[in-house]
Amino acid sequence: MGVDVIVFQIMEKVLVTRRISENALAFIKNSGYEPTVYTELTNISQEDLIKMCQGYVALLSVGPNKIDERFLSACPQLKGIALMSVGYDKVDLEAANKHRIPISNTPDVLSETTADTAFLLMLAVARNAFYMNKSIERGEWNFFDPMQNLGQELYGKTLGILGLGRIGLEMAKKAKAAYGMDIIYHNRNRNEQAEKEVAARYLSFDELLMQSDVLTVHVNLTDETKGIFNKTAFSKMKPNAIFINTARGAIHNEEDLIDALQNKTIWGAGLDVTNPEPMQKDNPLLNMENVCVLPHIGSATKETREKMAMMAAENIVAALKGERMPQVINPEVYEG
Ligand code: NAP
Repeated sequence: MGVDVIVFQIMEKVLVTRRISENALAFIKNSGYEPTVYTELTNISQEDLIKMCQGYVALLSVGPNKIDERFLSACPQLKGIALMSVGYDKVDLEAANKHRIPISNTPDVLSETTADTAFLLMLAVARNAFYMNKSIERGEWNFFDPMQNLGQELYGKTLGILGLGRIGLEMAKKAKAAYGMDIIYHNRNRNEQAEKEVAARYLSFDELLMQSDVLTVHVNLTDETKGIFNKTAFSKMKPNAIFINTARGAIHNEEDLIDALQNKTIWGAGLDVTNPEPMQKDNPLLNMENVCVLPHIGSATKETREKMAMMAAENIVAALKGERMPQVINPEVYEG
């Protein structure tokens, strides 16, 4: 007498910490894995994330979740973590290597969009755009005064870039095409390709501070760059300088930035990232004429978020299949 055996295949589960594109979720499902999306619109503490990850074999991490020794030692079952961001300043790579957990990010697909945000802020600050808009709401649009509401030109000015990498280069191309801006930059290493493409000139950090009319930050947040824009740095900048930060808020010291703007050490600032985030609504930066602040929307377009989600999904599926994550940021885990 034959016995029928029914085999239930238990699908491996992927925790996704925020709503992401349906296509990316479908890709994970169609690859044979089960994504669970955390849909509560609240911040997730590390303690909660650790609890949530139990029973999951992979994590698609959206937002600033801290992936450190504490997290990794509490979730050793994870076969891979895909970040839906290019920045990985919340990741302790040494700990990830120790636990042999591959981690990926989403480079390139967001470079143009994030550079757009930097460009938007540069132009908005140059023309006091956000403040001017608020002045209408305050009932201050009365009569024409040719000596009021004056911004500054960007044509032929010098754009300084701290961190001429993928996003920095896109910003340089836009500024050169739109305003014929001269491009200067500082990195730890020279970017010869970018020097050719946009005729960028390599300078020391101090020279960059002293020569930039607009100084845009596209560097990664590390121990080396944390707080690098402080009182000393702002004091070396030109009085007409515009400071733009679309990288990470902790790269500038907020108190020193407020002082530099109030004392007219520099002319204006455009921020997509703040320190801390979210910025509180009574922050003095929000009422300054030459300041424009956005709520961390650097890569926030429908198209780009779709590409980022799909890239993260492809990486997580690769990790689950035991393959190399295409955008791995700690390739050491695959060595030896
Ligand atoms: P990338 O291609 O790696 O560029 C980073 C650049 O910074 C590189 O040219 C690097 O050159 C330079 N750099 C790194 N450390 C440095 C240091 N200590 N001193 C001077 N230069 C240094 O990265 P990306 O894709 O352009 O992204 C840059 C950052 O943008 C991310 O890390 C992320 O934090 C931020 N971001 C923000 C948003 C947003 O929503 N606002 C969106 C996307 C990205 P060297 O290695 O030669 O120094």
